[in-house]
Amino acid sequence: MSSNTDFLLAIEDLTVSFDGFKAVDGLSLYVERDELRVIIGPNGAGKTTVLDMICGKTRPTSGSIKFANREMVGMREHEIVRAGVGRKFQTPSIYENLTVFENLEVSYPKGRTVLGSIGFRTTSEVTDRIHAVATEIGLTAQLDIEGAFLSHGQKQWLEIGMLLMQESQLVMLDEPVAGMSPPEREQTAQLIQRICKGRSIIVIEHDMEFVSRIAHKVTVLHLGKILAEGSMAEIQKNAKVMDVYLGH
Ligand code: ADP
Ligand code: MG
Repeated sequence: MSSNTDFLLAIEDLTVSFDGFKAVDGLSLYVERDELRVIIGPNGAGKTTVLDMICGKTRPTSGSIKFANREMVGMREHEIVRAGVGRKFQTPSIYENLTVFENLEVSYPKGRTVLGSIGFRTTSEVTDRIHAVATEIGLTAQLDIEGAFLSHGQKQWLEIGMLLMQESQLVMLDEPVAGMSPPEREQTAQLIQRICKGRSIIVIEHDMEFVSRIAHKVTVLHLGKILAEGSMAEIQKNAKVMDVYLGH
């Protein structure tokens, strides 16, 4: 028996074994509403696997993942998306031959349009939402540009916008600034801070400069377990963390 919590995401005693190897081992992690959590840790620590389990791509061996007090373990990926969990993968998956506007448009949940499942039509409600999201991701000037012509950074922001169109309450970003130029990193930091209001964000990131700019709280994973958790200042002072990660 577990009780309801105020946490948007409550992960308890989560374990996954791949042929006997525990990639994630008894992990408990709690994320509040409006929180921006960063997960760091050396390669192979289990960071991506945690996101894979939250979004239903990988089935845990044991444990619980509650989102808004609903158990997600056992639900299908599209059901988890519909419940309000959005995940951005490391390589952007935008439609190169559609404009920014159209990419955002196709991401709007179909069941919520006026015509519902009968067909898709641009309503003023959808158009308003597209413009609001374009502002959040800083792509209002690019709405009529095809995906193929966007910079690497702009493609990443568009994909975040596509998650916002789905009205995800939890947005998960795996290494969002990989391959970005310093100005793009700076803009991404601002973007993530903007979109954090009214939802929760989990970011996996290696770039410590970037982490220190955005994190409310940092969770350090090592060998599938939590090594440390706290503010960036606390993490940077932690001797265990220095040993396994920051020290190298
Ligand atoms: P991180 O994202 O922290 O670098 P991962 O979560 O990708 O680490 O991987 C953690 C460990 O689990 C690695 O040793 C990886 O090889 C292993 N692993 C991840 N997914 C699978 C899988 N589907 N099958 C077998 N091993 C996996
Ligand atoms: Mg990874």
